[in-house]
Amino acid sequence: MAGEKSAPKIVGLTPDRRQSFYGRDIVSVKQFSRDDLTYIFGVADEMRSIVKRVGATDLLKGYVLANLFYEPSTRTSSSFIAAMQRLGGSVIPIHGVQYSSVSKGESLPDTIRTLECYADVIVLRHPEVGASEVAARYASKPVISAGDGVGEHPTQGLLDIYTIYTELGTIDGLHVAMVGDLKNGRTVHSLARLLCLYDTKMTFVSPEILRLPPALKEELIQAGRPIAETARVEDVIETVDVLYVTRVQKERFADLREYEAVKGYYEITPALMERAKERMALMHPLPRVGEIHYDVDDDPRAAYFRQVENGLYIRMALLAAVLGKV
Ligand code: ASP
Repeated sequence: MAGEKSAPKIVGLTPDRRQSFYGRDIVSVKQFSRDDLTYIFGVADEMRSIVKRVGATDLLKGYVLANLFYEPSTRTSSSFIAAMQRLGGSVIPIHGVQYSSVSKGESLPDTIRTLECYADVIVLRHPEVGASEVAARYASKPVISAGDGVGEHPTQGLLDIYTIYTELGTIDGLHVAMVGDLKNGRTVHSLARLLCLYDTKMTFVSPEILRLPPALKEELIQAGRPIAETARVEDVIETVDVLYVTRVQKERFADLREYEAVKGYYEITPALMERAKERMALMHPLPRVGEIHYDVDDDPRAAYFRQVENGLYIRMALLAAVLGKV
């Protein structure tokens, strides 16, 4: 539109950093270094300023994203669509099971090899751990995991750690407590691994049956991070800088009676928040189903909707990076 401000030019950082993303798959946060995160935070900041100033840019004009979801999603799916559209690209949205040839029995590799004939990048959410790695092996175009079962959710991990950084201005030196379904919560698995890249202390708060998988706990210990476990939020509420609350993952329970027994275990209320530090961040990957009382939403420390917004900037940054535009 005439007279409108033009989109700022995005300046990428060092060529070697570019190599960590350009043409690469994003299937686990284990692939990232601290420098990679600094880089992607910088690009996300630039994406934020583009969206705030002019709404969109044509950086990915002519590029196509295949957005393939075999599990339900609100935020991840729509933020990838919005990210691609705000970068000037377009999207093939596919809700895997119901409306595609998956219902006719087509395999994941065949679906992926088909979609990459049309698209430049594939986003995949799948119920099986490791599915995105399998897809990445078959695809010559970049595959970005949007969550693989109870495994990882790397782009959520990135937006979560970016949110911690934007809320508190640092990651080093923080005490982060993760609360809820630590066994099945893939966002916890990704975030905990990323926090290992910084000088952080982690406390895992859950009932016994929802504790962190032992292999991941061992991984964190090997990384040299101090970790603690407890069943009570009250044990950490006064000392944490970040309280990361999660939903009990009903869809992962074979026996729904077990789910019923633990689903209402935690509820963050205004009364509990009164005991927390004045400067801290209350986060949740969402959806919430009772873990954070709605009366907490107006608390300035409630960061979960800013966290949602950050997801757009991080996914814009990742799409631009894997397609070699930053
Ligand atoms: N939306 C997140 C995920 O897909 C968290 C959740 O579902 O509880 O893992």
